Amino acid sequence: MSGITILTAYDERPDVSGELVYRAGGTDLQERLRTTGGTPHILDLTGVPGFAAIAHTDAGTTLGAGTTVATVAHDLAADYPALALTAAGLATPQVRATATVGGNLLQRTRCWYFRHPHLSCFKSGGDSCPARDGRHLYGVAFDTAPCAHPHPSSLAMALLTYAATVDTTHRSGLGIGDVLGDGSDPGRDHLLADDEVLTRVTLPPPAPGERAAYFRSISRFEAEWPLVEAVCRVVRDDAGVVRACAVAVGGVAPTPLRLPAVEDLLTGSTLDEATVSAAAAAARRGANPLPETGYKVELLEATVCEVLDRVRS
Ligand SMILES: Cc1cc2nc3c(=O)[nH]c(=O)nc-3n(C[C@H](O)[C@H](O)[C@H](O)COP(=O)(O)OP(=O)(O)OC[C@H]3O[C@@H](n4cnc5c(N)ncnc54)[C@H](O)[C@@H]3O)c2cc1C
Repeated sequence: MSGITILTAYDERPDVSGELVYRAGGTDLQERLRTTGGTPHILDLTGVPGFAAIAHTDAGTTLGAGTTVATVAHDLAADYPALALTAAGLATPQVRATATVGGNLLQRTRCWYFRHPHLSCFKSGGDSCPARDGRHLYGVAFDTAPCAHPHPSSLAMALLTYAATVDTTHRSGLGIGDVLGDGSDPGRDHLLADDEVLTRVTLPPPAPGERAAYFRSISRFEAEWPLVEAVCRVVRDDAGVVRACAVAVGGVAPTPLRLPAVEDLLTGSTLDEATVSAAAAAARRGANPLPETGYKVELLEATVCEVLDRVRS
């Protein structure tokens, strides 16, 4: 490691040569540097005033980029249950206590080819995706981009269901899709510039009466990224009819996906069993798995079915 500067302002630039990288909680960055052997100069964001501040206003709730995942899980449970449940379900208590909202959105892919010190891929400066001809058991089931690995951010998936916006040092009001892109540039996990800092995430005002559920299908009990994950928000009227709903999934595509076909089937229903089954089946639409990821299409339907069952019970 070439050195660390604790920033006290987002635009502070130390007079050092070589590669500069930002660090928030460091849970992704430090592991990546350890496995790849990189030695950039680290710009630690934790000294910037307001980095982890949360503000509630009539226009919504603003989370400083440094708000920890554990804080999201605990403090936002009443107002933003879909986000809080997702936060509570990811990684481990130790990671959640340190990992931040900004770092979660901007973490790099978990693909083992990318993280391998002696292999190259699109995202590590190469010109191919070795997972395609190699092992891609944890790859995408919606094969829509050159890189075959899904985006790892669970919070991005949940933030999609709130149509949350993101501010950076360069721009404001970005959607999650503006930050993550669509995967068509296989060298990028996000579209922020090298000197651009994610500063805030803004959620709309809480939706009264919102119910939410989150479920992940995972290869072991915890401390692992999900194979497939899904989150659902619904607002129902007094007769139990769904007046608004949002469903998103992760682990299956180059970026987390909202599922409008599923949402359309649920909206106006009472979440009866037949509608839930049809909606879960609709989650498969457009899937075109890789040779090793066909199982994810089955898992996607089952995971969405589980999350819908949970939200109606
Ligand atoms: C066992 C395990 C299981 C996990 N399971 C999941 C899971 O299921 N779902 C999930 O989403 N995550 C999971 N994670 C990943 C974890 O959530 C991320 O490591 C964490 O969210 C990253 O946040 P951080 O603050 O530590 O980021 P850092 O490691 O500090 O940074 C991550 C990246 O973002 C950049 N960065 C950070 N903050 C900013 C900013 N404000 N502006 C610009 N660039 C920035 C850094 O330069 C770096 O490239 C898991 C991790 C572990 C160890």
